[in-house]
Amino acid sequence: MSVTRDDVLRELKLAPVWRLRRADDAPTAADRDGGSDGETDARHARIATLAFDALVADIAECRACGLSATRRRTVPGVGARDAAWMFVGEAPGADEDAQGEPFVGAAGQLLDNMLAALGLARGDGVFIANVLKCRPPNNRTPEPLEVAACRPYLDRQIEFVAPDLIVALGKSAACTLLGVDASVASLRNRVHRYRGKALIVTYHPAYLLRTPIDKAKVWEDLLFARRTLRDVVSARA
Ligand code: URA
Repeated sequence: MSVTRDDVLRELKLAPVWRLRRADDAPTAADRDGGSDGETDARHARIATLAFDALVADIAECRACGLSATRRRTVPGVGARDAAWMFVGEAPGADEDAQGEPFVGAAGQLLDNMLAALGLARGDGVFIANVLKCRPPNNRTPEPLEVAACRPYLDRQIEFVAPDLIVALGKSAACTLLGVDASVASLRNRVHRYRGKALIVTYHPAYLLRTPIDKAKVWEDLLFARRTLRDVVSARA
């Protein structure tokens, strides 16, 4: 596999590289979504009104960032449209990119086991989504412009599903949703809020595959999440 200059810069945390735009450079969609110009606002406003199937169709056609050029399939999310639980990961990997469904690889099998331990199953009271709907090449960390371009889709999914509880899987999802830069360790054991919904942070299943000793912490987090969800439901009754 050849390594490009951009790969090296990214590895050194020096990318993306900003350069002055020449007068003849047309702005890219990613340029637009990083900013807050009228076109971006109009796109966000349009997405915020889409019904569920229209949202999935819109994601399938999305060209708002460069990931559309390298993806095989978009990965909108899977599960019950009225789910009480919403699990949010970072971005599709190779298996998800091939199948169009989130968490279907090794990390996904572990997530399914975590759900089963709670008496849950994907599609049955559970909705699973990612911050990004397209795979970043080589599973690199999502870039801010990609997150900004994709975020209206996740926000609309949250609004539409209206879960009682969101579980952010891993640092990337947690920090994106909470707008902080912090470790999972420091964000666990607390009820956060995102768009009016209770949100709990735990480790990403892929991290658990590498660090199985932390499975006990995730089990604690899931039990805490279940108690929190029950509190949310009873407070509403
Ligand atoms: N990791 C994620 O964050 N999401 C997936 O869908 C698969 C792996």
